[in-house]
Amino acid sequence: MENIVVIGGGLMGSSVAWKLAERGEKVLLLEQQGKEYDNGSSFGAARISRSLGPKKDVFSYVHNKTVKEVSKLIDFLNSVGIGKLHKMEDVYSTSPVSYLYDRSQYDQINKLRYKKQKYDYRKGSGNSAFRKFGVTLKPNQVLVREKKLHSGTINPKVLIEKLRMGIAAKNGVIKYHSKVVSLIKKDGIFEIEVVNTRNQKSKVIKAKKVVVAAGPYTVSVLNKFAPYLDRILTPKRVFLAFFKIKDKRFAELSPAEIKNIFDGQPMFSQIGKEYFSMIEEVDKNGSPIIKAGGHKIRKNIIDLDRVWTMKPIKKEVKWVRKKFRKYMEMLEIYLKKKEIELVDAYNCVYTETRSQIPLVTAIQNKYGALDQDIIIIGGMSGVGAKGCLGYAVIGANLITGQKGPNTKIYRKAEHAFGSPSTRLWTRRPRRGRLF
Ligand SMILES: Cc1cc2nc3c(=O)[nH]c(=O)nc-3n(C[C@H](O)[C@H](O)[C@H](O)COP(=O)(O)OP(=O)(O)OC[C@H]3O[C@@H](n4cnc5c(N)ncnc54)[C@H](O)[C@@H]3O)c2cc1C
Repeated sequence: MENIVVIGGGLMGSSVAWKLAERGEKVLLLEQQGKEYDNGSSFGAARISRSLGPKKDVFSYVHNKTVKEVSKLIDFLNSVGIGKLHKMEDVYSTSPVSYLYDRSQYDQINKLRYKKQKYDYRKGSGNSAFRKFGVTLKPNQVLVREKKLHSGTINPKVLIEKLRMGIAAKNGVIKYHSKVVSLIKKDGIFEIEVVNTRNQKSKVIKAKKVVVAAGPYTVSVLNKFAPYLDRILTPKRVFLAFFKIKDKRFAELSPAEIKNIFDGQPMFSQIGKEYFSMIEEVDKNGSPIIKAGGHKIRKNIIDLDRVWTMKPIKKEVKWVRKKFRKYMEMLEIYLKKKEIELVDAYNCVYTETRSQIPLVTAIQNKYGALDQDIIIIGGMSGVGAKGCLGYAVIGANLITGQKGPNTKIYRKAEHAFGSPSTRLWTRRPRRGRLF
């Protein structure tokens, strides 16, 4: 009999398993992939980490909490002497985060959002945007730039590795190649059927409590226990392209121009289809490989297992290349089409909720009864990475029945992410329609 089983070892599952192990809970983490995390929502070396938001914003809160928790994890790993010296810089690349808006958008929503912002940010439009940031804007555009330690990018690959080291050092158990194919509850105990993906042998693990953090597969893992979840969580395909400036052209750029490219990343534009870009890595010549995509061109998925290997759609590559080139022009770097190299392009998947707000919550069983012994951490869409350990703290408190800090912002976050008796479950669909 296991005490707590965590299903899924991406950013969310590894984070919550670490928080549980750190507290001395007996935890088993089941991951269908091998030791090398090579597909899933957390795949890659960069996600934007940013904390700008209105006062008491829950997303800023989980980001800031994550920074503190990563620092604690690093201290712990150094204290027990696992691997080489661990540093915050392994996980975070600090760099100014640029937010681009239409003026009307900024005036309507963001002026208020930023008014009471306690972190350092600067705003610019017209000539002031160029003076302050080296970015040329159209007259109706506004740029906000956040400058804060550990805002920039977070590296999921490195963080997952460190979290797993921490789990093992605290006597947590991680089983790789272990795919959960069924989860039911019998006589108050969870029965989890697990298939070993190497030899296809299956076995049933019993557990008192379960955390499901299977990313896009959360719905399928819970299809027997909570079949209604497919109405609440929807996996979406998002497309990513990786560009670099061709070596010959890059060699022609001056140090000031190169600095402007680096200062201009990561960026997030809310104009039109929400283009984003960030530096994934830097090649041997010092040239950045820039990951780019658009959150609003997410698409539905027919075959979740196949989507990772499907060829990117030409139209999408064309759109993102155009956006990349335009943003470079804003940075006063003029590139011909042939001077841009497409390094890689692939599909990625994340799961969204109807409200676009992630869920960290206990769930109802298929009969509509709330079960406090099982929680999900999911529906992270494009905001999960920066706050992963913030969500994990809430999740660890919920599954162990602890209250968490009695602060307004913690309560607000717990409520926003859908703890029992909050928004998701208060509007219970009519019986018969749900199941
Ligand atoms: C293109 C893209 C851009 C993004 N940009 C940002 C950003 O800029 N900033 C930000 O903060 N966030 C961003 N995100 C969001 C963030 O990356 C995700 O929210 C986060 O990685 C989700 O992690 P997860 O653990 O929920 O999912 P996953 O990483 O998918 O983890 C789920 C794990 O469960 C395992 N699993 C699945 N099914 C089973 C099973 N049956 N049995 C056992 N194991 C199973 C999988 O193998 C996987 O390891 C982005 C996401 C994408 C896709």
